[in-house]
Amino acid sequence: MKLVLIGIQGSGKSTQGNLLSKKLNIPYLSTGHIFRELAKEKTQNGRYIKETINAGFLIPDHRTLEIVEEYLAKPQYQNGYILDGFPRTLRQAEEFKDGVDRAIFLDVSDKEALWRLSDREQEREDETLQAIRKRIDVFHEHTKPVLEYYKERGKLMYVNGEQTIEKITKEILERLN
Ligand code: AMP
Repeated sequence: MKLVLIGIQGSGKSTQGNLLSKKLNIPYLSTGHIFRELAKEKTQNGRYIKETINAGFLIPDHRTLEIVEEYLAKPQYQNGYILDGFPRTLRQAEEFKDGVDRAIFLDVSDKEALWRLSDREQEREDETLQAIRKRIDVFHEHTKPVLEYYKERGKLMYVNGEQTIEKITKEILERLN
C-alpha cells in the first residue's frame, strides 16, 4: 500500500506515520528527515539545503522529486510506503511516478498546531517561530492544491487531526480496510 500523509507542521504526521508503519508493516519515510540529513553535509549542496529548510522554504520540485524517487527505488520500498512531507506542491503530485493509493489529510487548525509546537522543546534548528509560521503559509499556498488533486482522483481521506492520537490511528486503519 502506498500512502502519503499531508498536514501542516504539528498536525501529527510523523506520529501517525510511525504508528501506521508498525500496524501495517510498511516502511515510513519522511522527506523532512532526508533533507535534514543532507543538510549536515559540508558541501555546497548541504549548505544550500540547510539554509532553505531553516528559513522554512521548500526545496525546488525537481530536486525533491529526484531525491524521493532515488530513495523509493530501494528494495525495502517495493511493497509500499508511508510518505510524510511529500508531495507538497501540485507539480510534485503530478510528476510523482511511483504512485499513491491514498492521501491522508490530517486537518488541524493553524492555531492548534502553533499551540502544540509552542509546547514542544525546540530540538531542531528549523523550528523557530518564524520558520514555523513561514511553513504554515507555504502549506496554505502550495500544498492545499495537492489536496484538491487527490480529491478529484477519489484518493483523499480527510481526517480530523484534533482528536486523540489513538482515535486518529483507529479511524485511519478502519477506513483503509
Ligand atoms: P518537514 O520535516 O516535513 O516539515 O520538512 C522540513 C523541511 O524540509 C521543509 O520545511 C522543506 O524545507 C523541506 N522539505 C520537506 N519535504 C519537502 C518537499 N516535499 N518539497 C520541498 N521541500 C521539502
